[in-house]
Amino acid sequence: MAETATSKSRPRVLSGMRPTGKLHLGNYMGALKNWVELQGEYECYFFIADWHALTSDYADPSQIEPNTIDVMLDYLAAGLDPERSVLFQQSKILQHAELHLLFSMVTPLSWLERVPTYKEQQENLSGKDLSTYGFLGYPLLQAADILIYQPQFVPVGQDQAVHVELTREVARRFNQFYKLEGREVLPEPQVKLTPSPKLPGTDGRKMSKSYGNTILMTDPEPVVRQKLKTMVTDPARVRRTDPGDPDKCPVGDLHKVFSSAETLAKVYEGCRTAGIGCIECKSWAADALVEILNPIQERRAKYSEGDAREILEDGSNRARVRAEETMIQVRAAMKITTNGPREQGTSEQGRLASARTDNSQLITDN
Ligand code: SF4
Repeated sequence: MAETATSKSRPRVLSGMRPTGKLHLGNYMGALKNWVELQGEYECYFFIADWHALTSDYADPSQIEPNTIDVMLDYLAAGLDPERSVLFQQSKILQHAELHLLFSMVTPLSWLERVPTYKEQQENLSGKDLSTYGFLGYPLLQAADILIYQPQFVPVGQDQAVHVELTREVARRFNQFYKLEGREVLPEPQVKLTPSPKLPGTDGRKMSKSYGNTILMTDPEPVVRQKLKTMVTDPARVRRTDPGDPDKCPVGDLHKVFSSAETLAKVYEGCRTAGIGCIECKSWAADALVEILNPIQERRAKYSEGDAREILEDGSNRARVRAEETMIQVRAAMKITTNGPREQGTSEQGRLASARTDNSQLITDN
């Protein structure tokens, strides 16, 4: 799977997710669906951030590996294509850790302490001791994850856009201190805003694993229908004869995202006149969800866990070559001489060439 001339000339995008368990429809609509579409136009790097999962799950890491495989299968199920995207696992590319360390030397502590999610998450996950160095440094590792691939764009939803800002600041600071032959090494990536529709969970709050209100990409039809049956509705419809308003109902929100214009019209008319019952309305929403989920689940069934591992291994080998290219420039800009056997006696150009061509040499590093 050599990179083609075309992939080299396309703008590069990079994004990733933490392996915290099977993915749900919110993950699909808010990220994966957009990523799949980007594959046609961009050189795509998508990864599974298993080191990031350790920041909150360090005391019991036993689920991180199985979750990584599940997330990979969900990536493939959504339509990410290993022939068109580099799909990789963060921990297989040690260069991320090296860049994170180097960034930690130049990043003011106050930048990390002021990240809004730092205090917020510490409070939300109060059952876990998050007063760790790793948790504080999470956004910096994220900056390394991104900048090591020198992407032009980072696709995120509106609520995530602020997270990319720190990455841009880190790049700016690095470039201020270090240059390679007069030029900047780490280009600042742009945020690429992608649509992330409001998707309620079964309790009406935002669909989120931590609320336990999700519909999983792997949920079979009977489970989807059962979950929909228990979904909250417009509280105004106490009795079947009470009219309601789909704009005040989470099931209505699902219809807006997934149903046809025709069904949506029936929902508005029927709900507002009490012409339909919520059970019927929910069954239409379930029909629309099942229609979205069927092809996803059919694709997932084509891949075994072994396939997922192999694809991750292969993608990680490709990503590592790119990451090492950046690190060669970073080390040179920072005047760091590495004395590893593979670097000894080679010129800068030679090292770059070997990083590009000699996969096996890099693989043995891990
Ligand atoms: S009819 Fe549909 S949109 Fe109206 S309250 Fe019931 S579930 Fe919600």
